[in-house]
Amino acid sequence: MRQTLVMGNWKLNGSKVMVSELISALKAPAAEAANVAVTVCPPVLFLAQAETELAGSNIALGAQDADVNTSGAFTGENSPAMYREFGVKYVLVGHSERRTLHGESDAMVAAKFAAVQEQQLVPVLCIGETLEQFEAGDTQSVVERQLQAVIEQCGIAALGKAVIAYEPVWAIGTGKTATPEIAQSVHSAIRAFLAKQDADVAAGVQILYGGSVKGDSAAGLFAMADIDGALVGGAALNADEFAAIIKAGA
Ligand code: 13P
Repeated sequence: MRQTLVMGNWKLNGSKVMVSELISALKAPAAEAANVAVTVCPPVLFLAQAETELAGSNIALGAQDADVNTSGAFTGENSPAMYREFGVKYVLVGHSERRTLHGESDAMVAAKFAAVQEQQLVPVLCIGETLEQFEAGDTQSVVERQLQAVIEQCGIAALGKAVIAYEPVWAIGTGKTATPEIAQSVHSAIRAFLAKQDADVAAGVQILYGGSVKGDSAAGLFAMADIDGALVGGAALNADEFAAIIKAGA
């Protein structure tokens, strides 16, 4: 049985006041939905504050990206080893904004995935097709290529200690959520693709959906057999909206 995971990706948003207010507003809804794993991914600068303020809650901490190196002359970067010191459990790798805006290749994403696991943290591997690829009917080949890059570098067993987030790029920040049926068909195809390489990994891995998930669209998505939670952007910045998504998973 796969636990429902509701993860908020705050992207480049927040302030000291906002972090405090949002975390304190989410503690009760997260506690009430004890069967849902709730995680927030604030910008790196707020990880220390978030760690302190999350203490004693059942909300976990995540980071949005990581460097492949542990330390050294890599100006501006943050490493998984450093995240560990701040109680981080999950690290997003390969978010479409990193792939598009920072030119991250499949191989780079796979290297980040490995670096995160080396520190015993859980990578959340983000995959998904662009609108052009969706319209050309290439969704499956794109997500399989993105998955295979990680499998080739890290092995299929590594996916058993990771989370997958399917985020169609055309649904991110656009208000266009994939219908539960479209999302389910991709999630089940992802699981079938993995099952050809390892049936246990395929059955156990959590596959989250991301892309304009809101309080009123979450329940329909979570009702699908292969959708194990959500990676939430915009709606994760609003306590009531994010609480409604958590509740939908309970
Ligand atoms: P939105 O929920 O704002 O569409 O963002 C989704 C996302 O990119 C989460 O990582």
